[in-house]
Amino acid sequence: MHLLNADLHSHSNVSDGTLAPEAVAERARAGGVELWALTDHDELGGQRRARDAALALGMHWLSGVEISVSFAGETVHIVGLGFDIDDPALEAGLAATRGGRRERALQMAEGLAQVGIRGAFEGALRYVGNPELISRTHFARFLVETGVCPDTHTVFKRYLTPGNPGYVPHRWARLSDALAWIHGAGGVAVIAHPGRYRFTPTEEYALLTDFVGHGGRAIEVMTGSHNDAERIKYADTALEFGLLASRGSDFHDPDESRTGLGTLPDLPGKLQPVWEALGDRIVRPG
Ligand code: AMP
Ligand code: MN
Ligand code: MN
Ligand code: MN
Repeated sequence: MHLLNADLHSHSNVSDGTLAPEAVAERARAGGVELWALTDHDELGGQRRARDAALALGMHWLSGVEISVSFAGETVHIVGLGFDIDDPALEAGLAATRGGRRERALQMAEGLAQVGIRGAFEGALRYVGNPELISRTHFARFLVETGVCPDTHTVFKRYLTPGNPGYVPHRWARLSDALAWIHGAGGVAVIAHPGRYRFTPTEEYALLTDFVGHGGRAIEVMTGSHNDAERIKYADTALEFGLLASRGSDFHDPDESRTGLGTLPDLPGKLQPVWEALGDRIVRPG
């Protein structure tokens, strides 16, 4: 089998990336990507531009989205691939999921003001490309700009994660709803960066069994978020649960992202790539 260079997880300034969809496409092409998906958080606004740019550059393209889900007290990200970008129920579900981000951001700014960091809401807004999609990442960029922290990773550690002053808990979509929206639109659901969640083994097992129970079919094995041990662990998980495997950099920005588009190792040969189940959903150039 030809080992396709697929990158099925990336962000533009339609959510919390810094580049326009066309510029992300160009970086994907430059990284050797042959099959690309833009997976902005809770938002489809960049999909047409991504498709047109991908095809103009000679790449194959899949529609994509990364849905924020609350599960067992943790935020879990579910990537949808190969769905109809005009599906009204998916769009309505995503709109409901994004709603409340502005309120949350105002509360985050209040928390930061209490520790002496003023103007964070207005500051974060200056980094926002899409007013409906203000995220913790935009706050992180503002706190780096103002010299509060040296880099965004430190901002998350000190200010934007549970137990810290800028953290505000939020109720995202239900797992069953997110999967129903993706499946209703003809797509395949993928558990994003499973190694990132702070789950006990029991909670992780519950996520996997619920995901499979609701028709979820794939899991990210090669992601910018996994170290070598996690790549091995989740390759085994894919086999154990009969899941297809996905590969994606989770690119956000040339300086912030450790993993460039198209640069991850290939999926282990024993796994079935998710794109093999998406043949008829892949849009081909020319
Ligand atoms: P939100 O959807 O507003 O909760 O923001 C989540 C986003 O923050 C993720 O999609 C990542 O882009 C980013 N993020 C989460 N944790 C970290 C971290 N430790 N360092 C840098 N960025 C992070
Ligand atoms: Mn993000
Ligand atoms: Mn994510
Ligand atoms: Mn992501």
